[in-house]
Amino acid sequence: MFKSVKLILRSVPFHSYDQYRCATQVLPQLSSEKYKLVRKNYARVQDIDLNYFKSILDENRVITNESDLLPYNIDWVKNCRGQSKVVLKPSSVHEVSQILSYCNEKRLAVCPQGGNTSVVGGSVPVFDEIILNMTNLNKILSLDDISGALVCEAGCILETLDNFVRDQGLIMPLDLGAKGTCHIGGNVSTNAGGLRLVRYGNLHGSVLGLEAVKADGSIVDCLKSLKKDNTGYHLKHLFIGSEGTLGVVTKVAIHCPSMPKAVTIGLFGVNSFDDVLNLYKNAKASLGEIISAFEMSDHEAINGSAKYLNRRLPIPEYPYYVIIETHGSNEAHDEEKLSMFLKKEMESGLILDGTVTSETKKMQHIWSFRESVPAADMNNSYLYAYDVSLPHKHYYELVPILRKRLGDKVLRVSGFGHIGDGNVHINIVTPKYSQEVTDIVEPFIFEEVAKRQGSVSAEHGMGLKKPHYMHFSKDQSAIELMKVLKQLMDPNGILNPYKVLPEH
Ligand SMILES: Cc1cc2nc3c(=O)[nH]c(=O)nc-3n(C[C@H](O)[C@H](O)[C@H](O)COP(=O)(O)OP(=O)(O)OC[C@H]3O[C@@H](n4cnc5c(N)ncnc54)[C@H](O)[C@@H]3O)c2cc1C
Repeated sequence: MFKSVKLILRSVPFHSYDQYRCATQVLPQLSSEKYKLVRKNYARVQDIDLNYFKSILDENRVITNESDLLPYNIDWVKNCRGQSKVVLKPSSVHEVSQILSYCNEKRLAVCPQGGNTSVVGGSVPVFDEIILNMTNLNKILSLDDISGALVCEAGCILETLDNFVRDQGLIMPLDLGAKGTCHIGGNVSTNAGGLRLVRYGNLHGSVLGLEAVKADGSIVDCLKSLKKDNTGYHLKHLFIGSEGTLGVVTKVAIHCPSMPKAVTIGLFGVNSFDDVLNLYKNAKASLGEIISAFEMSDHEAINGSAKYLNRRLPIPEYPYYVIIETHGSNEAHDEEKLSMFLKKEMESGLILDGTVTSETKKMQHIWSFRESVPAADMNNSYLYAYDVSLPHKHYYELVPILRKRLGDKVLRVSGFGHIGDGNVHINIVTPKYSQEVTDIVEPFIFEEVAKRQGSVSAEHGMGLKKPHYMHFSKDQSAIELMKVLKQLMDPNGILNPYKVLPEH
């Protein structure tokens, strides 16, 4: 019998970056030391430069006070720490253009920064790069409720945009745990995936156009809101996922799908990973177009999150959990489909237990267990977050391999993620950062991913942490072409140095 469980509800939003800042007691090691990097030959910021920046921005948008700078220099996972002496907060494309033109001429390096939720060290400087923080470019410019095209500035927070378009009967095509803090410009620059990629596709599909500023300060206007536009090369794709190394995204036009009339979510207990895969296969066949998310988590990940949230899971403990969400336009139709599917899979034994709800608060409650996994893993501990893509048959293999390899050197190794996209997050938790653990895991994990024809970065990007592992997923011919593009777009290499591309 399928259990309906009474949920006790408390809404726990994503912990904002500010809360983490305050919780930071011990400063992370400097990235330059941790990753043994040598400063490149960029100019250093002088008073004359600060005076120039103050002449184009208000004084309070040029931050130089050491303690005020700290949060901008530290990343969300508290793994990386830069040494920037100045944060600039432009509020228009022209200000971004003036800043970059000046920096390019003076050979001053720049680190573009959105919501600073990067988990690969992309959003914080390594040495004294100027931080170009996009928070003040936060205007929503237009929404076409017929086509669903939203045009906004790059610093708009994803959740703010979602709330705005929902009032017009639309939703943002992406959703992720960091939605309360991350910017749409950061999402575009990382080609963020998230929970609903399986349904709404990735940003290379839903971004209709964008405006960006190149390293020399020139503005590239590709801000069309058309679904179809085959006039020449599709330049927007150069900026989507380039992690601030080819240009600074200042405006985005994005397609927002209609808000589903019927949304349902279920949390299910499953006995084995093979059963998770079979359930996914059957869900695709039975639920078809209404699946909007298909997430899995092992026992360690979800129960760690429940403990951290100090809440009980609405179902008993199982080795694996699956979250299935449906988005549809006809409640009765979706309900019938879902009921038939659940009945069948409970009888087949793939689903051992579960709870299903269409109530907003209860749905949020279920999502909170999944979305809080990273925060739980960082609570009084150090998180090594790996984000890889693997063919489904190999999806979970590396978790037990790493558990065995690491033994009692770590607190836990867990696996969870977007199974619909073949993207598994492998989280390794230790009491504090340990070079020994890093050396046991890397490059081993990436070699194993390569053996299985996977990708070393499914959605978080390369950032600072992974450039030297790019060759495990990309052929040298592709890496060489990327370097040619970088040289063309940013000949002085001022944009986000030390990130994304391997040095050799
Ligand atoms: C709890 C949590 C859950 C997450 N879940 C997901 C998930 O499900 N899917 C996923 O893909 N990611 C996820 N992430 C990672 C992160 O949130 C995304 O990469 C997000 O898109 C980053 O946006 P941001 O505004 O915080 O960018 P930042 O972290 O500030 O920057 C990320 C990169 O983009 C560059 N950048 C930022 N803004 C601009 C701009 N306007 N122009 C040019 N370059 C820019 C930066 O230089 C940096 O290289 C998660 C992170 C956390 C903390």
